[in-house]
Amino acid sequence: MPVGRRTRSLLGRAAAGVLAVQALACTVNPATGGRQFVLMTEAQEIQLGRDADRDIVAEMGLYPDEDLQNYVKDLGARLAQASERPHLPWTFRVLDDPLINAFALPGGYIYVTRGILAYLDSEAELVGVLGHEIGHVTARHSVSRISRAQLAQLGLGVGMILAPELQPYVGLASTSLELLFLKFSRDDERQADALGVRYMARLGYDPARLAGVMEMLSRVTSEGAGPRGPEWLATHPNPENREKLILDLAARTPVPQTPPLVGREEFLRRLEGLVFGDNPREGFFEGRTFHHPDLAFSVDFPEGWRTANAKRAVQALSPQQDALLLVTLARESSPRAAVAAFLGREGMVGGAIAEGSLNGLPSARARFRATTAERTLEGEVVAVEHRGARLLVVAYAVASAWDGRQGVLRAAQGSVRPLTEARYLQVSPARLKILAVPRSESLSALLQREGASSRLAAVRALNRLEGDPVLPAGFLLKIPVGGLEGRP
Ligand SMILES: [Zn+2]
Repeated sequence: MPVGRRTRSLLGRAAAGVLAVQALACTVNPATGGRQFVLMTEAQEIQLGRDADRDIVAEMGLYPDEDLQNYVKDLGARLAQASERPHLPWTFRVLDDPLINAFALPGGYIYVTRGILAYLDSEAELVGVLGHEIGHVTARHSVSRISRAQLAQLGLGVGMILAPELQPYVGLASTSLELLFLKFSRDDERQADALGVRYMARLGYDPARLAGVMEMLSRVTSEGAGPRGPEWLATHPNPENREKLILDLAARTPVPQTPPLVGREEFLRRLEGLVFGDNPREGFFEGRTFHHPDLAFSVDFPEGWRTANAKRAVQALSPQQDALLLVTLARESSPRAAVAAFLGREGMVGGAIAEGSLNGLPSARARFRATTAERTLEGEVVAVEHRGARLLVVAYAVASAWDGRQGVLRAAQGSVRPLTEARYLQVSPARLKILAVPRSESLSALLQREGASSRLAAVRALNRLEGDPVLPAGFLLKIPVGGLEGRP
């Protein structure tokens, strides 16, 4: 598939002497007190975070709720001011992503997903997650793990033949981002937990509540109840071992507030109406057919191909991984201009552009051949005009596979059509309802009255309940309502 930065030799880059003189220094870390060998100045660290932040926001999107953004920002800012690096340009964002995740970039950029917010149980837990991520930054974990060779890679702007959104299975587009998601070591995690506990206590929150987050992560993982498993674990391993360590540490940490802050109700009230799970307005699959309500189109992907719907593109990869079909939005103002811009990319040789109509939509199409350092790709690009937007439908295969795949690729391209059924166009995401239990009763009886019996497993996981407990009157319960699953 197309050559990206990741395929370039790291060693080759370093040997090329790109890294001339770096501020190579062994310094004492202000948060941990330990000596640290860091290749990067603080100004470089901040620049690195700022560049990556732009990509993260473009790739994952901000959750469109200003109140919730400000709430997280204010809590984060107070914690950061209580840290050892208060002068960094601290930035806190809620990402519009259903996965359970939180992460930090160098320079003080901290992210929580709407997915993790749904599964947290109190303000103290949120403060713990933010404190832990702040700890990775104050202890400079990412920065000290980036090697000299990797540092040489950053910010070089190595050209790519296909734009990032056209690469198969782009998670996060660039190498610089991959480098920032280095898996932390067990020691890094312990240290970030300890710093998280420290910052929580400084603000008067009960530091033992951070252990509740670890418990939630373990549970969601073991039950498979969460949305495709908590991503947080990929970069923050071993929640079970950490739970006990956090409790031990919290017991020894004085909190200048009696009783310590927890803020369960305060926090849960903020979650009222929070979008839960995948948002079907951004597209969903029904079998191999993909419907996108906001853009009002449907497309049939080839049978048996692996599909993925990301913010910037929906794509399908052949089982042999030698062909790809993807649909994305073009910025240009007409189908012809969109195809022309696509063919104008570096390394691309395009055929003549033919204009016409596809399922009643104005369209333009052209064959292309793209040559990368490793292989030649053959493909066909189609752009269609629909409701004031231009959809770019790109089909390609490695040259040797094109003859065998072009039939199925062209059939899929030809299936792009307006979505007209009201039941799809009007679909809405599931949202959290925060319900104060009106009278003592069992969970199952309450869900039945709420018409949410089908969501028992999710409600248990969201509220950390077991079996069918009797809920006390006044207990605040998170229930997902509406969405595809809740559709009659
Ligand atoms: Zn961590």
